[in-house]
Amino acid sequence: MRPSALAARAIDLLFPLRCAGCGTFDTALCSRCEAALAPAVGPLRCANCSAAWEGTDFCPRCYGWRELAGVRAAFEHEGAARALVHRLKYQRYRALAPLMASHLARLAAEMPPSVWLPVPLHPSRERARGFNQAELLLRRAGLPRPPTRLRRIRNTGSQVGRTAAERAASLAGAFTVEGPPLDGLVVGLVDDVITSGATARECARALLDHGARQVWALSFTRASLDLTAPHSPIAD
Ligand SMILES: [Zn+2]
Ligand SMILES: [Zn+2]
Repeated sequence: MRPSALAARAIDLLFPLRCAGCGTFDTALCSRCEAALAPAVGPLRCANCSAAWEGTDFCPRCYGWRELAGVRAAFEHEGAARALVHRLKYQRYRALAPLMASHLARLAAEMPPSVWLPVPLHPSRERARGFNQAELLLRRAGLPRPPTRLRRIRNTGSQVGRTAAERAASLAGAFTVEGPPLDGLVVGLVDDVITSGATARECARALLDHGARQVWALSFTRASLDLTAPHSPIAD
């Protein structure tokens, strides 16, 4: 086992679980805090990207999107849901994955994809973290995968604090697909959080080039942007 993977394992063992909402011991999320999570599905959302949107049909950004057939997320990226995303990714708290993955599995059951792929990290970033949180969530959700692999070939660095336009520019050509063609398959992408959607769109472009019929994205949280100010920096 690599040192970083060993460190991740040690963190799982050493630190007792505490509720991401209220701090109660011995649970990743207590039932009261779980019931209080803000769902990122339902009315008053863009039909494509699920961002909060009071108009009908698509939000202004989605008129320019053609790569993704749709985006679904379990919860808003706030409160305990945001804390879970951060603990899994930055504190490498892998014991949270089954709980988070159960919500992904619930949504995936109602989505069109027949196969699923994780949004990849660049290998150097995955080595540093010890795991890819999207890969872990997909595995724990038990969703079927194709023999095809999606790889990140360019290290785009952290997207935190970049505007949507900066994110899109830094991601162009960052992904490649290896293995059998996805002939006609409807593919789902799994990630922990979707913000601008730029990463998922770039992945989708690569998968469509490799023969996918349609690409959807699914994440644990949805960071809704201020759609009236598309060029403002995006917080994480
Ligand atoms: Zn709680
Ligand atoms: Zn939208």
